[in-house]
Amino acid sequence: MLATNRTFLELLLQMFGRISSPGAESHREAEGAAIDELQAGVCTTDNDGSCAPMPGWIDLRRADRSNPKYKRGRSVGARRWDEVLGQTLHQTATAALTPDHPMLLAIPAHDLVFPDGTVVLLHRTTSYVYHGHALNKLTTGTEYVCRAAGVEGDYGTVWLGKTDRAKGRTARDVVVEITDAQAASGLELLRWRNRQVAANGGRVRAIWSHRQGHESRRSDPGSRIWQRVAIPATRELDLADVSGLHVGSGKPNPDVWTGQARGVKY
Ligand SMILES: [Zn+2]
Repeated sequence: MLATNRTFLELLLQMFGRISSPGAESHREAEGAAIDELQAGVCTTDNDGSCAPMPGWIDLRRADRSNPKYKRGRSVGARRWDEVLGQTLHQTATAALTPDHPMLLAIPAHDLVFPDGTVVLLHRTTSYVYHGHALNKLTTGTEYVCRAAGVEGDYGTVWLGKTDRAKGRTARDVVVEITDAQAASGLELLRWRNRQVAANGGRVRAIWSHRQGHESRRSDPGSRIWQRVAIPATRELDLADVSGLHVGSGKPNPDVWTGQARGVKY
């Protein structure tokens, strides 16, 4: 548990100090690999420092959000590249979105990952977006389009809204977990952003869940996304494991997500 008076930045700097110590050879290798990929054209940088999207991705980063109906989806400022310290994973808690949905621009997130694997980029990595409460300032936010259980297979952990209850829908009726294609695209997106941040002089240190940033998001993004995307990406990209931490009113990720025995209940 964190001392409540410790800021997120202090926490991250403490972690950074640990993982960038002179002995962190593997980290320097990972950085070197990122730069090699950049030079090989895997991550070409365009004139505002953004990486070109991967083939097939939909790029709405420069879309006009001046219409008031998109207000919620606007960024509220910009950050330096070296302030982007993490990536936060979310679930939309609705499976009704499609890549051509007219209101995608009203979603406060950096990107979206759809069940068929389509990725939509909504904001630049350096844009400050209100996606995850205490995690907003120093992370990006990716929404997985799904209606996931907090714990896969446990219907008691599926969030139900007023409309669902009014219409007599049960968790079993509404639950939609992420697909294999979605997990694969989510991993690709995490790799891409790591390369992009490294190419601009920063470094992503960790993957977070929205649950860790606010008490109201217990099931966000849920066990399947954590296990299929966050855990393998943390290993592959040599990131810090921050599962046992929380910021603001958030909670650590539960043992049933992490597979670790910390005594953290769902
Ligand atoms: Zn969320």
